[in-house]
Formats: sequence, structure tokens, C-alpha cells
Amino acid sequence: MTRSPATPQHSERPPLTVYLASPRGFCAGVDRAIQIVELALEKYGAPVYVRHAIVHNRYVVESLEAKGAVFVEELDEIPVSDAPIVFSAHGVPKSVPADARNRRMFVLDATCPLVSKVHIEAERLFDRGHEILLIGHAGHPEVIGTTGQLPPGAVKLIETSEDAARFTPNDTSKLAVITQTTLSVDDTREILSVLQRRFPDIVVPRTDDICYATTNRQDAVKRIAPQCDRMVIVGSPNSSNSLRLVEVAQRAGCPRAMLVERSSEIDWREFESIRSLGVTAGASAPEVLVDSIINAFAERFDLAVQTVTTTEETVTFKLPRPLRDTTAA
Ligand code: SF4
Repeated sequence: MTRSPATPQHSERPPLTVYLASPRGFCAGVDRAIQIVELALEKYGAPVYVRHAIVHNRYVVESLEAKGAVFVEELDEIPVSDAPIVFSAHGVPKSVPADARNRRMFVLDATCPLVSKVHIEAERLFDRGHEILLIGHAGHPEVIGTTGQLPPGAVKLIETSEDAARFTPNDTSKLAVITQTTLSVDDTREILSVLQRRFPDIVVPRTDDICYATTNRQDAVKRIAPQCDRMVIVGSPNSSNSLRLVEVAQRAGCPRAMLVERSSEIDWREFESIRSLGVTAGASAPEVLVDSIINAFAERFDLAVQTVTTTEETVTFKLPRPLRDTTAA
């Protein structure tokens, strides 16, 4: 709820410099996942079933529901039909496509190719006889999906440096580590260094499993955080990469960084005395939400918006074959 008194008149608005991080918001994997649902709706008609929130953003999910997508958590919630079923960008355990095949379902897999890359790496390391450690957050669908590429018990989850310090391997010469794609770059580096100190032979990812989008958004936040009185990270509370951006901002010099899902949640009293504001968005948050939040600030402050660009992104991913000939309406 907006707790502001009356919106100030133009002449009364205090000045506010907004540092707008770039890159921010949608990454190539999220963009592709949403396109898959939209194109499936266009090509096959409603309903299109989606297993789990296609990406972790309430606005995106509600917008797709309004177009005819039906979100479920498990395949047995879907009635027998020819309607397509889309797997979310976070990836699924191997048992899920196997179950879908048994039920003769038509699957469109929106797993981000960078998550699939980690799945393939996990299998490759396992086949070579390694014990696999996965750095990630318990219960996150990506962690469930990656763990589920291998037999039960084959993947050991490491969430913190303390876990890394306590872990007892079966054979120190046959250890390998992979990571969730949306972690804090700095925390992961710290956990990896504990593991490497304890187990010098451990196989670590050749290139970081943390994806380009996560890394770039965290770098941009680090650049602007020190000059911001407050920061707003646009994203949903279940979005791992958005939550990491809040932590990164707080550690990088803006302790009063906060996650905001919609402008209507903002308690304006907390922003009364600020002169500078950082704004960014997690990889699953659409730009329309960033715009609406900046507009809400513009109603109360005289804004000077500066975009701070730390890198340009050009990554795109191919669509699944059945949708390549379909163009968005
Ligand atoms: Fe893929 Fe990274 Fe985006 Fe996740 S955050 S969907 S891994 S590009």
C-alpha cells in the first residue's frame, strides 16, 4: 500500500539522482522461456500448461495466465489432452521428462541452455567417477533439477562456507564441484576457496557455472551502490538472482538496498530524505515494472536519471524446434 500523503506539486518536489544499472532485468534465458509460452499459445491455442512458474516473477506469471497459460507444480495435475506442457527456465529432474514421455505429453522445454550446460557437466563428471558437490540453495527448483540429473545421493549440496569446511568426501582425489547459475559471485568464490584449500585436487568448473547475466547484474550493482542513499532492486521474493542483487548492493556500500516487487509496496516515508537512488532489476523482472517504479518516484521527486552501463549483452538462445517457424503476434 502506498503510504504517502498527497503527491507533492511539481515545484515542491525535492531533487533525486537516479542511477539506473545496465545491464538489468531480463536475461536471454528468461526472454526465451517467456517467448516459448507465448509462441505455444499462439501456435497451439490455450491452454498451454507450464510446470512451475516459468520464471520467478509474479507479474510475468499473471500476464501469461491472462493469455491462457495454466501453471501447475506437477504433471499429474494436468488432464489428459494434446495441450503442450512447458518446463520452466529453472530446469527439471530427469524423472520429469521421463514421466511426460510415459504419459505421451507434448513437451516444450524452456530450461535455460546455461542450466542445461550444468546438467551435462554434472553427468560428465559423474560418469568419470567423481563425487559431485553442488553449491546452491536447498529447495530452489534449479538445485532440484540439477540434483535430479543423477541417481539419488550422488550430488551433495553445499550452501555455505561452513558446509564446505565440514564436508567429508568419500575420496579426496575424486571430487568435483558445480554451482547453481544465480548465486552471489563473491560468496561462491569464498566457498570454492574453502573447498580448494581443503581438497587441492577438486575439479572446479572451467568457466563459472554462475551465468553471464547473474555476473553482469551483480557487477553493475557494485558500480552504483557506493553512491546511492538507497537502492531498489525490482524482483520477486522467490527470485534467487534478485535476492542476491540486494545482498550484493548492501555489501557494496548501500546497506539500505531493498527488494521491491511493485511500486504499490513502497513505503514512501523511508525515501523522504534521500538524494540518490540506485535502481536495477533481477533477471526475471520485466522492464515495465522498472518503468512503473521510476514513474512513481517521478511523481514525488524531481528526477535526474543516469544510466550506468558496465557491459553490453548480446546473448540470445535458439527456440525449441517446433516453435522456430512461429512469430510472435
Ligand atoms: Fe539462464 Fe542465467 Fe537467465 Fe538463469 S539467470 S535463465 S541461467 S541466463
